[in-house]
Amino acid sequence: MTPDKGRGLFAVVNISRGTRLLVEDPLVTITPPPLVPSMGFSLAVIEPLVAEAYAQLTRTQKEQYLSCHEVRFGDEGKDEESQTDDVASVPSGRLLRILRSNAYNTRDGRVGLYPLVALINHDCRPNVLNTDLWVPETLTWQRIIVAARDIAAGEEIVTTYVPLLADTATRRSRLSQYGFTCMCKTCAASSSHEDGTRVRMRQILDALEELEEQPAPNQSPEILAGHAADLAAYIAGNGFVDYAVGTSRLAAVFAGRAGDTETASYWTAVHRANLALAGEDIAW
Ligand SMILES: [Zn+2]
Repeated sequence: MTPDKGRGLFAVVNISRGTRLLVEDPLVTITPPPLVPSMGFSLAVIEPLVAEAYAQLTRTQKEQYLSCHEVRFGDEGKDEESQTDDVASVPSGRLLRILRSNAYNTRDGRVGLYPLVALINHDCRPNVLNTDLWVPETLTWQRIIVAARDIAAGEEIVTTYVPLLADTATRRSRLSQYGFTCMCKTCAASSSHEDGTRVRMRQILDALEELEEQPAPNQSPEILAGHAADLAAYIAGNGFVDYAVGTSRLAAVFAGRAGDTETASYWTAVHRANLALAGEDIAW
């Protein structure tokens, strides 16, 4: 998943917004133990789970697993047996590093490896929506990649690995777990003004989500509706697709609470369109 030369997915034809580029079932799904506060998952506990899941794969699936990029830090893997071609005897440490380098969290707290989706490189200004859909028939989360804007032939397909409502230092710090320093255009052109706006928008988002659950009587519904609309417009204007569904919904909810039915129906329409892009039906 690091931006190595030769990796990455590129559009070979012009692609219009809303086109589904990839729909992929997980090769492996791990159910990790509860999170250790501020430490994330305990990797020592996950390692045997990964080895167990890997052991159940067919030979072809194992080859697919091992084809995924592996990020190593420092001396990691130094003491492991020298690499063999035998897919059946791969050190569990390597399996774990591959999972760590490529996995996506599913909405119900599991961790899935999607080898094709894993080929997509990161950019702080993604051009696809990267989401998951529950498939009841197979009891799995399918990963779907949808063009979030028109993409020209030759353009690289890029997604984001980290939440985008964060300043450049925070994004880069979170991206370092994938073994690279983000040098995308957005990072290169970052300014303290833009970083400040992202952080402020994140704070507004957090506050609105809390107020949606627990309305505060001393807050003016009109002012909150204004903040929610500004936030949704900022997200749409900057193409931060991962926030589009949530923020358009909040803009509709808070406009409704302020009694502004015209604005509420506008954002409801936007929200429906965002849900449709993600392959989902309206939830309320
Ligand atoms: Zn970047």
